[in-house]
Amino acid sequence: MFCKEILSLQGEAVTTAEVVQKYSTDRLYERIDGKSLKQASDVSFVHGWVRDGTRLMTGQVFCEALKVRINALPSRARTGRGKPQPRNCKAGCEWPETNVHVLQNCFRTHHVRIERHNRIAHRLEGWLKTKGFEVLWEPHIKSADGILLKPDLLVLQEINGERKATVVDVQVVGVYDCLNTLHYNKIKKYDLPWVKAKLAEDHQVKVIDFTTVTITYNGIFSKRSAKDLVKYFKITQQILKLLAVCAVEGSVYTWHKFRKDTKWSWKRQPLRLGGSRRTAAIPAPQGPA
Ligand SMILES: [Zn+2]
Repeated sequence: MFCKEILSLQGEAVTTAEVVQKYSTDRLYERIDGKSLKQASDVSFVHGWVRDGTRLMTGQVFCEALKVRINALPSRARTGRGKPQPRNCKAGCEWPETNVHVLQNCFRTHHVRIERHNRIAHRLEGWLKTKGFEVLWEPHIKSADGILLKPDLLVLQEINGERKATVVDVQVVGVYDCLNTLHYNKIKKYDLPWVKAKLAEDHQVKVIDFTTVTITYNGIFSKRSAKDLVKYFKITQQILKLLAVCAVEGSVYTWHKFRKDTKWSWKRQPLRLGGSRRTAAIPAPQGPA
């Protein structure tokens, strides 16, 4: 009787498993630690690493990746809730030390965030090359009046005897903006007449498309971005999941660097059978794992 009363709060009759699921989901998205997952269901398969027993991460990284996912990494803003203690960033910023600040904005993590971004772009580049695409890394596209654009990847392919180019830019973004809007905003940056004319001239292409890899620091993919990658390159769900893992793992690394924990590095690998972490082979950052 007591439970029934509790689950009937706010006028919702919580009677079936589906209703309980929806009720729990809605409550989660209302909470400060859960609202970052609001767009997670748009591309749900990229979150398979949470429960599929992936060996892409060490046990420690996996546990910390889960904390990244729900904004639960220790920070002054989090641990200081309701306490009279400083909440500003310990790196000296005037902003509250939240997970978002540390993983997306703090000057102390700037170079590590670039590394996180580049690893995602290199993963995609490596996979595209294994599939036979011609890929140029950060091509310089310069206008007649000196404007320089450097998208992360320019992918060239030939379809039915016609050369085609696809400009791909990678962005690791925050969790509270609409991801599809961020995807389109980034496309607008490159989808310009002079960019198309320059690419057509330099690479003898007739068809030019623009897309992005738009992913949050906790591994949530923009639906439009994922659809574009499937449409242009027939990218597999496994590789999209790998890019999501790369983003989350990069955020764990960023957090360790913020704490100046020098013991942690990208070179840590999951324990292999018959080997140790110290002797495990370290794959190059390029190419899919
Ligand atoms: Zn800071």
